[in-house]
Amino acid sequence: MDKVLTPETLKSDFIDKIAQESDQNVYLCYQCRKCAAGCPVTYETDYTPFQIIQGVIYGQRELVLNSKMIWLCTTCETCTTRCPQEIDIARVMDAARIIAQREGIKAKYPVVPAFFQTSLQNISWFGRLYEVGLIMMLKLRTKDFTKDMGLGIRMFLNRKLKLTPKPTALREVRRIFKKIKEIEETS
Ligand code: SF4
Ligand code: SF4
Repeated sequence: MDKVLTPETLKSDFIDKIAQESDQNVYLCYQCRKCAAGCPVTYETDYTPFQIIQGVIYGQRELVLNSKMIWLCTTCETCTTRCPQEIDIARVMDAARIIAQREGIKAKYPVVPAFFQTSLQNISWFGRLYEVGLIMMLKLRTKDFTKDMGLGIRMFLNRKLKLTPKPTALREVRRIFKKIKEIEETS
């Protein structure tokens, strides 16, 4: 007799890790696909948010962690807002990205984690995002020196970019980073 699918029979290390990172119960999904219908990036991705949720439920670790979807997700939360079961799908995407990075899985779009890491480093240095510094750090990290150059020049000419940083609330921001590091080390 075929195995009956229940949360117990579907249980996997992967779903436990996702649940731990996201604090979401994906078993609540009843496959209405409203999340997929509203996602603004599905035209470019390999899987829809609905398929990622199903991938998690069925323990498809490789599929989820190697997908384009988790890196193209903009965290706009349209899926989260639309889900009738109140699953925070955007948080599940976040959790998948965190696990992929922790497990050393190469991102389908390496510029995305590079952007996240560079932004955080930039904020920890200046207490807020210093855009010119962010652009320079990101260019050095990705070695892509010419991309979006025209846009950068236009922003500069329209006074949208400040050449020097204006550090803000440095002590408080550094305290937050220190606290997060402590939590990560003990969890
Ligand atoms: S949060 Fe991500 S998965 Fe959800 S709708 Fe927005 S882009 Fe799509
Ligand atoms: S909107 Fe919620 S319940 Fe519907 S398919 Fe997506 S995750 Fe499942």
